[in-house]
Amino acid sequence: MGSKEMICSIAETKNERIADINHAVWSYAEGGYQEHKSAAKLIEVLRSEGFAVEERAGGIETAFIGSYGSGSPVIGILAEYDALPNLSQEAGNAERCPIEGQRFGHGCGHSALGAGAVGAALIVKEYLKETGLPGTVKLFGCPAEETGFGKAFMAKAHCFDGLDMCFSWHPADANTNFPRAIANYAVRFDFKGRSSHASSAPEQGRSALDACELMNVGVNYLREHVPASTRMHYAYLDCGGDAPNVVQDHSSLLYYVRGPRLSQCTEVLERVKKIAQGAALMTETEVHIQVLGGLNDYIPNDTASRLLADAFLAYGGPDFGEEEYAIARKFFETLPEEDRKRAAASGARLNGISEEEFAARPLSTAVEPYSEKVRQTLMPGSTDVGDVSHIAPTGQYMVTGVVLGTGDHTWQFTAQIGTSIGDKSAQSIARAIAYASAQVYEDPGLAEQAKRELLEETGGVYVSPIPDGMKPGEGV
Ligand SMILES: [Zn+2]
Repeated sequence: MGSKEMICSIAETKNERIADINHAVWSYAEGGYQEHKSAAKLIEVLRSEGFAVEERAGGIETAFIGSYGSGSPVIGILAEYDALPNLSQEAGNAERCPIEGQRFGHGCGHSALGAGAVGAALIVKEYLKETGLPGTVKLFGCPAEETGFGKAFMAKAHCFDGLDMCFSWHPADANTNFPRAIANYAVRFDFKGRSSHASSAPEQGRSALDACELMNVGVNYLREHVPASTRMHYAYLDCGGDAPNVVQDHSSLLYYVRGPRLSQCTEVLERVKKIAQGAALMTETEVHIQVLGGLNDYIPNDTASRLLADAFLAYGGPDFGEEEYAIARKFFETLPEEDRKRAAASGARLNGISEEEFAARPLSTAVEPYSEKVRQTLMPGSTDVGDVSHIAPTGQYMVTGVVLGTGDHTWQFTAQIGTSIGDKSAQSIARAIAYASAQVYEDPGLAEQAKRELLEETGGVYVSPIPDGMKPGEGV
């Protein structure tokens, strides 16, 4: 039996376990750095399958590393399991219906992501056992992807050192390659002023709120003079209170500064800091600036990405049946008409069927083959897998887990990923990651080639975006 067939038959024995993990983590729906039950579930499964588990990896409460095997190649698989606030929703229900008493929901599908990653590690374990090949598989339990820079903290703690290759995936609305993603800094600006009666003694007040507003105006003028691909967004963390007759003596902003490379973000951030200092000078207030964390850009490694996409293509996408299509049709109806039309047109094109046929079965099953163009395509979002991709050659793939046209971070995503659509998505990537890994154990030269490519791209230098001494979740 070749490794493709061997992996396929092992995978069938793990499918139930993968579905069970997806449903358990989905129902826990825990936010970043609070994923205690979710991490415990994954750890319990790994231990019961003979993995050695290091808990609190990198000193982070809900991070862990499960290992099996010995020697090289060492292959890492990344699991996530954090949920998002305000996205609680009943599984399979196509009408808005949050679960009572639950605020968080898996609107980015990380319950399935974690399940598929653990499933892949379990299949690799059986494969290593059966073949007797040397090699190690490490399953990384990575908390707080959404807002907490979990993997960047783990990277700073050297959790990913020594990997020969690394794989991950993400549920999406189609089976596609994962392109480059941009770097990001999150920075907090706290202004302090002096309060006074805004009408009887305004001259005595020094307004922190004015300082924030002037800072935002300044940054809006900066926008013309930064590289075109830069993104700067802000939100008020504190607008100084709700009394117009009191000069606000405190006010705070949270900024994201994004760009194709961390070095570019660093340069822009230095200018944003000067604007904050200028605003403080103008208003005679003080500003405290704190970098809360950041992410490197994601580099899709050519060899690793190709291996994973080819492995996925070899088996085909998720094996959806009538049960899944019936769920899918209900959710397709919830899309705004324009989106539905666009999704039907692109679904028809991708799958080589008519728009009517696609609308009746609106889960995209076509599999996009690997293309080197992925490495030139820039996704205007960020992921903490970026930091891992600077340390180990990393490949990711996106797999259909929701109806085409479903937005990320929506209640519709939460509802669909908690059904058998999410299970099948996770099951299909688990066998593909395992098959890609098997090829590296059989031919370690692939890992050497991937590492050469990474070295060419980074020069062997990893710059952490996390300030020294910063603790995960601090300052948010
Ligand atoms: Zn996500």
